[in-house]
Amino acid sequence: MSLLKAGKLGLLRVLEATGVSDRLARSAWRQDRLLILCYHGIARFDEGEWDGLYIPSAMFRRRMELLAESGCHVLPLGEALQRLNNHTLPERAVAITFDDGFVDFYQVALPVLESFGFPVTLYLTTYYVDYNRPVFDPMCSYLLWKGRDKGVLNWPGMFGSPVTLDKEGRSQAARAIKGIALERDLSGRQKDALLAELASKLGVDYEELCQRRVLHLVNPEEAADMGARGVDLELHTHRHREYRGQARMWGELEDNRQRLATFSPREPRHFCYTGGVHLPQFPGYLRDFGLLSATTCEPGLCTTSSNPFLLPRLVDTVGLSDLEFRAWLAGTGQLLPTRPYRQTEGQLLEDADPAD
Ligand SMILES: [Zn+2]
Repeated sequence: MSLLKAGKLGLLRVLEATGVSDRLARSAWRQDRLLILCYHGIARFDEGEWDGLYIPSAMFRRRMELLAESGCHVLPLGEALQRLNNHTLPERAVAITFDDGFVDFYQVALPVLESFGFPVTLYLTTYYVDYNRPVFDPMCSYLLWKGRDKGVLNWPGMFGSPVTLDKEGRSQAARAIKGIALERDLSGRQKDALLAELASKLGVDYEELCQRRVLHLVNPEEAADMGARGVDLELHTHRHREYRGQARMWGELEDNRQRLATFSPREPRHFCYTGGVHLPQFPGYLRDFGLLSATTCEPGLCTTSSNPFLLPRLVDTVGLSDLEFRAWLAGTGQLLPTRPYRQTEGQLLEDADPAD
């Protein structure tokens, strides 16, 4: 643990023990602020060892218990933002969001949320809902991690020389494979075949992973079931891609919106940047598309002066202790320095077409 982190935890402990956190939690200052929580996935197998964004199910349940024990008011995102602007938020207001729509949300997180009666927003990217095979970018990294004990990857068709499967080598290999898929403009099926080839080179049973639906999004039936159960399905682009130019960005949003319309009668009005990536022109694109808000992955509490298209969110990970989580609910977490969000590798920001 770094000195800074140790010092921060020590200070949070003092703030909690002396009742400062509790007073802040009940203050007018906190009541005029909204905490938006961000989750990506709940580990069903070993995903948590591979990526800290996958949290164990017991930890997720504990987080929800902390929300209930701390007297937080969990609101639907749209209502929370409206009440933020009207200065009518209840005490310790929180909104819960999930990104992407992996099957673990449907199988594990949603029943937990329902048991607490907490509303939730799911920013659902829809391409891999229809083509229900592993999501290419994360599966590429996951396979390299799964095969790491092999030590070296020999794939002459892809790499000029053998690739060492240490952390650095895996990261470079994943970047190279994703780059080639993009450059060759491979279809979903071609990318799936590429994953199968990578798995075989690594000695990993790809079809067995597919049977367990590792790194799969929900399928159309599950998405429709979520819509019927009141999950707020919102926009996250169809192909998990963002474009510099307005026309292609709007195309992504429109494709996403049309797919979401088949799962839920509610019109989506909120957006979440893919991988937290945003350019200065994006808030304008989103507003002109008719949306009401967009969330980033930059930690913070929302205030009335927050740009509605650049709303901060707290990304909850295995690296965040219960103490820090409680501090964020109270508001003290915001007062201490935080590390800026590291944009997830592979959340590619495509270059614009020359026509854009
Ligand atoms: Zn995403």
